[in-house]
Amino acid sequence: MGKIIAIANQKGGVGKTTTAMNLAASLAVLEHKTLVIDADPQANTTSGLGHDPKTIETSIYECMVEGIDVKSIVSKTEIENLYLVPSHIDLVGAEVEMINMENREEKMKSVIADLKDEYDFIIIDCSPSLGLITINALTAANSVIIPVQCEYFALEGLGKLLNTIKIIQTRLNPDLEIEGILLTMYDVRLRLSNQVVEEVRLHFKNMVFDTIIPRNVKLSESPSYGLPAIAFDAEGKGSIAYLNLAGEIAQKNGLQKVN
Ligand code: ADP
Ligand code: MG
Repeated sequence: MGKIIAIANQKGGVGKTTTAMNLAASLAVLEHKTLVIDADPQANTTSGLGHDPKTIETSIYECMVEGIDVKSIVSKTEIENLYLVPSHIDLVGAEVEMINMENREEKMKSVIADLKDEYDFIIIDCSPSLGLITINALTAANSVIIPVQCEYFALEGLGKLLNTIKIIQTRLNPDLEIEGILLTMYDVRLRLSNQVVEEVRLHFKNMVFDTIIPRNVKLSESPSYGLPAIAFDAEGKGSIAYLNLAGEIAQKNGLQKVN
């Protein structure tokens, strides 16, 4: 049965989408059949994996609200073993339409239940909010990865996020674990970057992944090619960091493939 991992932080621009795309691609390259669910109406993961959000008519939202079969919208990507449930802008309306639905926090969980036997990993890219769609993702997930940017105010909002996770563990998903805090956009030359690493490690100790994602231009360019970085810069620093992260996660979950 597949492991479902949400990538969440209500702060924008911390590397959620970059992590969703490149971690999922790395897991796929390590021969784990992986599905990415784009749960952000900005649809950056969808375009980053080569699909035009303007041509997408059905997203996870229609599956949650209208009961459309999610299997009918799973799309292939350029990477073997990597699949996508795309998003489009209408996801914005979902929160309003869902407000009066029964079990509205558990819609994504029941949609994903039909899929989880088919994949080793399901990665959910969340939007920069703690709204109903993100709550749905955290309720559906087995664990959550929290990307933290090695920048000023790195820890801002983290308390609120951890509190939301606690509430979800109490009320909706007692088994939800923190897979790890992921330090992103690290610049070895900057004192600030190093200070953030120290501070986060001091506070959160072994909750923090060993792997640190460096600031790397290929990672930021990759969405413009519609490909994860590993597809065109496999030897690059960014690709290698995400491969290491995938290895760390596979190992932690007892899924390391032996060659
Ligand atoms: P979020 O999904 O949290 O809003 P993104 O993954 O979209 O964050 O990242 C925000 C911006 O920073 C994007 O332009 C992305 O390309 C860039 N970026 C993310 N991670 C890195 C990195 N490790 N190195 C360089 N640029 C990065
Ligand atoms: Mg994003």
